[in-house]
Amino acid sequence: MQLYQSNQIKIYNSLTGKKEDFKPINEGHVGMYVCGPTVYSNVHLGNVRTFMSFDMVFRYLKHLGYKVRYVRNITDAGHLENDADVGEDKITKKARLEQIEPMEVVQRYTVDFHNILNTLNFLPPSIEPTATGHIIEQIELISKIIDNGFGYEVNGSVYFDVHKFNESNEYGKLSKRKLEDLIHNTRTLDGQSDKRNPQDFALWKKAEPQHIMRWPSPWSDGFPGWHLECTAMSTKYLGDQFDIHGGGMDLKFPHHECEIAQNEAAKGISPVNYWMHANMLELNGSRMSKSTGNTVNPNELLSGDNTFFSKAFAPGVIRFFNAQSSYRSVLDLTDDGLLASEKGFYRLMDGMNLLKGISASGTSTFDVSAWKQKCYDAMNDDFNSPILIAHLFEAVKYINQIKEEKASISVEDLALLKTTMHAFVFDVLGLENVIEVNSGSDKLAGAVDVLIKLRQEARANKDFAMSDKIRDELANCGIQLKDGKDGTTFSVN
Ligand code: AMP
Ligand code: ZN
Repeated sequence: MQLYQSNQIKIYNSLTGKKEDFKPINEGHVGMYVCGPTVYSNVHLGNVRTFMSFDMVFRYLKHLGYKVRYVRNITDAGHLENDADVGEDKITKKARLEQIEPMEVVQRYTVDFHNILNTLNFLPPSIEPTATGHIIEQIELISKIIDNGFGYEVNGSVYFDVHKFNESNEYGKLSKRKLEDLIHNTRTLDGQSDKRNPQDFALWKKAEPQHIMRWPSPWSDGFPGWHLECTAMSTKYLGDQFDIHGGGMDLKFPHHECEIAQNEAAKGISPVNYWMHANMLELNGSRMSKSTGNTVNPNELLSGDNTFFSKAFAPGVIRFFNAQSSYRSVLDLTDDGLLASEKGFYRLMDGMNLLKGISASGTSTFDVSAWKQKCYDAMNDDFNSPILIAHLFEAVKYINQIKEEKASISVEDLALLKTTMHAFVFDVLGLENVIEVNSGSDKLAGAVDVLIKLRQEARANKDFAMSDKIRDELANCGIQLKDGKDGTTFSVN
């Protein structure tokens, strides 16, 4: 018997606006697609928040025993600067500005993305396909859409006919927009565009002579529209209809709306059963966004090298901070918030370390089975990680009471408490154990103490570059320094 058989998950489905019982298409199997990054710049913490929320979903589904095929793509072509299909391709533009090959841009930022996700203890997806690796599939889709009467070619570019599609289908059903309102709210075309209507979107763009990323097609040498790659890659690996599609809230329109339209136009099938949208990360009250420059990169937060925060934060603290709010809530990244999360994270880790050493005696003074069920109930309720964390702290309180001999636990309950805590803290939330190393207890601690003293000397001499260097280099080795009122301590990740 697998855990999923006794745990009915409810998922908030953006398509219906309701929490629904999750029933996968094939029992015991889940197909999940999440829109990945456009690799033209370093990922910021906003991007990371969305991916982290889906990492937690992936982890919980796996924990329940589902066989999950998790596909998260890399957008390495076709994402224009502007949603109205104008402007330069983001990757091409970066390549032009830096005078390097577009594929060098792609390589650099894909490596950066993977490094950050590794540092933050993400599980790799099952498949990580690229847009450039699926040009043939995208061309096939365009041909089908044209054959079915929903696409038209003008001057080597191909557009999706939203008005024609809306006669037989419902364009806007995911984002709850009506075509009439979209018409009302968009400016008319200025005569420069090849589109029949401003609401139409590009399936294929003819490349200008200077455009480097180009592929041959029946219509022109060009490149695919951004929305198309996700339709091609999700259905190639998960089937024409699959269970879960995720992404950030900002992708609902137009990106995901267009994905639905493309699939219905090509195959007559609505592709996704449960649409999940993660809410936005804000930085001091406004949305974190590359375009406004209101961003912090994960490395800046990990090293403390930024103008927003008072200190460096460990990877586990970032994960814990994220899990303390529901993936559907807006989350504001502030120094106070991170400092509070840091305290909570170390309290939880202290509890985990204590749990290793406690012994059972007599009967339990806490209902461990009922508590365990509450942990599952929280996650079954649309992955409600903040409620889960509240329950984990209930257990930490109990662990502390046992340690202080104010409470007791039976042999069976101790085993249950250990496996359940381990499962939720490490497997589901993806936190990594931080072993608090006692000062002077071994050679590593001795060596780090020497470095802490050198850093204190550097600070006393106002050599802040050197003191930061010592802290950052140690952080790179997985050793986090913590400055507190009683001096500097350290932890090893
Ligand atoms: P992009 O690389 O721009 O395609 O974005 C990658 C992912 O990050 C998408 O799922 C976006 O919705 C998501 N994203 C972008 N900004 C934020 C933010 N401030 N908070 C949360 N997710 C975001
Ligand atoms: Zn996508």
